[in-house]
Amino acid sequence: MIPYGRQDVRKEDIDSVVEVLRSEFLTQGPQVPIFEENIAQFVNTDHAIAVNSATSALHITYLAMGLGHGDGLWTTPITFLATANAAKYCGATVEFVDVESTTGLMSVEDLQTKLVEAEKKGKLPKIVVPVHLAGQSCDMKEIHKLSRQYGFKVVEDAAHAIGAKYNDKQVGSCEYSDACVFSFHPVKIITTGEGGVITTNNEQLSEKLKLLRSHGVTRDSSLFKHDSHGPWYYEQIALGYNYRMTDMQAALGTSQMRRLSEYVTRRNAIAEKYARKFESLPISVLDQKKYGRSSYHLFVIQLNLEKIGKTHRQVFENLRAEGVGVNLHYIPVYKQPYYADEINWANKCPNSEAYYSKSISLPMYPAMTDEEVCIVEEKVEKVVVE
Ligand SMILES: *Cc1c(COP(=O)(O)O)cnc(C)c1O
Repeated sequence: MIPYGRQDVRKEDIDSVVEVLRSEFLTQGPQVPIFEENIAQFVNTDHAIAVNSATSALHITYLAMGLGHGDGLWTTPITFLATANAAKYCGATVEFVDVESTTGLMSVEDLQTKLVEAEKKGKLPKIVVPVHLAGQSCDMKEIHKLSRQYGFKVVEDAAHAIGAKYNDKQVGSCEYSDACVFSFHPVKIITTGEGGVITTNNEQLSEKLKLLRSHGVTRDSSLFKHDSHGPWYYEQIALGYNYRMTDMQAALGTSQMRRLSEYVTRRNAIAEKYARKFESLPISVLDQKKYGRSSYHLFVIQLNLEKIGKTHRQVFENLRAEGVGVNLHYIPVYKQPYYADEINWANKCPNSEAYYSKSISLPMYPAMTDEEVCIVEEKVEKVVVE
């Protein structure tokens, strides 16, 4: 089976992790700030805060922005559960903005419509989270304009999108957002095993995030509420978590970062091959916006089921039977029993429904060979035209 995604771990990665294992520090030591500096330089932000997953990153980012009971967070249904779950951890309400059916990205039009309605009801969101699905940036400039008008914070869920560009800037630069979150789960663009990073240009937010990732404890005497008891003294000034990244993970991340641009180039080359091949078949690929460059975490095809004459499920099963490890990103979050509530989101998100009804993710990872790409293309052709 050719998998839909796979990490690329090389000897230099292994060596850098082994070196940490032989050193004095295993958890958050000197490697974590090196990795953070690496990311901050790459995306060109003032701050990068490393944690043990993107889920944790989203959680403490929402918390640090004051999200709590009675507040609303808006995101799109076509995302991984964690985007919404992290808001639930804060006790907030999650609402969904529809996507564009040809990209799966947050529809600025639907966001605007929803904001107008919400303002009338006095129920504007505290945070809006655009998801850079498959590695393509949402239209951040437009979302930023709305954030100014309606007074919400913007957190980019860029779990798929390190190495992608929006206009001429790296995704994560936070030019049009308050914070941006990356994931380093093995299936994503670069990996630390488990891990995530928050980038921001907001110093205060960065300090809060550092407190929240480590029990809310500080050793910075300028922040103390009480007099110090002595050189051992520290204070807990917030309710934080143990969300620290280990030094082994950070070393792996720094080593992987050296190949980030190589990875994104390879992913784009595979995407080009696929797109060319599929032009003549009854399937379409996601529209690519002129404003950016995708990092192609995923390669999604959308089936023209009428022309193919099979169901979505049949195509999926046939491809798996042919040894193509296809996947589906994502089941709309509101369909999960946990999220099923009194609001009929399916009615409100017709594009998300359409997206879900015909999308399939094909194998896409940098170590994929040209031969493997050809095999996938042949199998797809066989399954959709036979
Ligand atoms: C993977 C992913 C996450 C969560 O990342 P973890 O590092 O696994 O916690 C969040 N959002 C999206 C869109 C993802 O794909």
